Amino acid sequence: MTYFQTKKYIKEALLPVCGEYASYEAEKIVCHIFGIDKRTLTLISHEEAPDKTEEIENTVARRKNGEPLAYILGNTDFFGLNFLVSPACLTPRADTEVIVERALEFLGEKYANVLDICTGSGCIALAIAANSHAKVRALDISKDALDIARKNAERLSLSHKVTFESCNALSEDFASECEKYDLIVSNPPYIPTKDIADLSEEVHREPLCALDGGEDGLIFYKRFIEILPAKLKLGGRIIFEIGYDQENALRALCEKKGLFYEFFRDYGGNVRGVVIKIDQNEYK
Ligand code: GLN
Repeated sequence: MTYFQTKKYIKEALLPVCGEYASYEAEKIVCHIFGIDKRTLTLISHEEAPDKTEEIENTVARRKNGEPLAYILGNTDFFGLNFLVSPACLTPRADTEVIVERALEFLGEKYANVLDICTGSGCIALAIAANSHAKVRALDISKDALDIARKNAERLSLSHKVTFESCNALSEDFASECEKYDLIVSNPPYIPTKDIADLSEEVHREPLCALDGGEDGLIFYKRFIEILPAKLKLGGRIIFEIGYDQENALRALCEKKGLFYEFFRDYGGNVRGVVIKIDQNEYK
């Protein structure tokens, strides 16, 4: 088979599980299996491909079985950067890119210090570091996720700008730290426990501790809104990713603490994040 025929074969096999993304995924899989990039694939697409039947069948079977493409390939793109991923961390979502955009908008040319809580693969922390003068301290409770995040920092040559530490952000130890930041970002677990069972097969392959936000999905936000304002420098900001239906809950939490807020949407049109500040005027 030619590369083109191989891609078509994979696309057709994936149609029932991937729908409109089948063509995109087939191209990624072909590039991965033959070790070529997209441009090369276009150039040689009508040449005969080496026989990789077993690897192709195995990959198609894993994908049809619900394994996320990023885990099969071992990497994914986020904010124009390539990240290693494994089942130890959530796969970076395109929806999360707006969190980075808002963070960069706020940081501008500042030499800021940033805290990223629940960093996972490190995608938010590293995308911020790659596109600003900020130094980022990134935390996660999972040592396995931190191993991946550190590898990502090395691969992206950002280890001098981002440090990774194991930390339980709900603990008293974390609450009592005195360091202050210009910006605190977090994409914490925010799915209500009872909704976990209804998530797609793919999401079920991801670590529960990166998804489960407790009974109401708000356990991290409730705690963070209590403790993070004291960790902000004057004029600082907190930016959270939130679930599409959590705007009202977050508004109530901010109002109870007298914080100022502005919600923003992802490119799918869902409310996806909130910028919070302690001092007034600009927002609310
Ligand atoms: N947005 C993710 C999802 O839909 C959840 C991420 C999170 O809990 N932080 O699966």
